[in-house]
Amino acid sequence: MTAPLPLDALHARLPSPLVEVTDDRLARHGVQLLLKRDDLLHPRIPGNKWRKLRLNLRAAAESGHHTLLTFGGAYSNHLRATAAAGRLLGFATIGVVRGAELADRPLNASLAQAAEDGMRLHFIDRSTYRRKTDPDVIADLERRFGRCYLVPEGGSNAAAAAGCADLGRELGGVADVVTVACGTGGTLAGLAAGLDRGTQCAIGFPVLKGGGFLDGEIQRLQHAAFGGRRGDWRLDTRFHCGGYARTTPELRAFADEFAERHGLAPDLTYVAKMLYGTYALAEEGRFAPGTRVAAVITG
Ligand SMILES: *Cc1c(COP(=O)(O)O)cnc(C)c1O
Repeated sequence: MTAPLPLDALHARLPSPLVEVTDDRLARHGVQLLLKRDDLLHPRIPGNKWRKLRLNLRAAAESGHHTLLTFGGAYSNHLRATAAAGRLLGFATIGVVRGAELADRPLNASLAQAAEDGMRLHFIDRSTYRRKTDPDVIADLERRFGRCYLVPEGGSNAAAAAGCADLGRELGGVADVVTVACGTGGTLAGLAAGLDRGTQCAIGFPVLKGGGFLDGEIQRLQHAAFGGRRGDWRLDTRFHCGGYARTTPELRAFADEFAERHGLAPDLTYVAKMLYGTYALAEEGRFAPGTRVAAVITG
């Protein structure tokens, strides 16, 4: 097998576009909304997944790995992004998928896309999946698949957070508050570290129920990537709308109206919840008049 590289194949549109939208529901609170269009970064590897994978792919290539192995649920954007990146750069990819029962069913569209991009899918039962970072589970995967560069679930590790710091830097001086959806929190960990100290802050909206646990997870990632807590950031855990991949009629109505007004249909799993939360904070008067809010369209 030829060595993976060059990383040029990962070329993206940087910095991602920043576009202002006009919305009377925000204007009446004196809030200016900017959309940070990370969804336009790369045609095959959207948004924050590109930023999180970039330094991991470089590390994998530099350490002579030819195979990437990572983890995700059946609808994981991260699995799809890893498969696409592997295909572009010439890495073999293995996706360890939660749910042994899925092995006997037709692939959903998300997994079918990953398979189409050459990802080898390996289904494991849910209790083993929960222990996926335990040494015995990892050893078992390495016995089966050989030497692999491991990327954690959702792609969140120190290299991912370091890659996402660029997202914060691109927003330097142009926004006062940055809002972002959180799955594993890796994007927020990096983004916050890249913001201007003292003048900018980030608010993360966990899309999972009980997302308060992410606070410790984000601190852990910041320690690993930057040596300590960085930036001014906090979580608002109120806008999960029932939990991961759940929606409510209010969320769908909000997303439909946003699409109609602004020509951008927000993804319901992440982006719509973040926008819904951002609008709610404006409605609650949490932003001082004149605040410029940049909402990250992560995918
Ligand atoms: C994966 C994903 C997220 C979550 O990112 P984390 O770094 O895991 O918090 C947010 N938005 C979109 C569109 C995603 O695909």
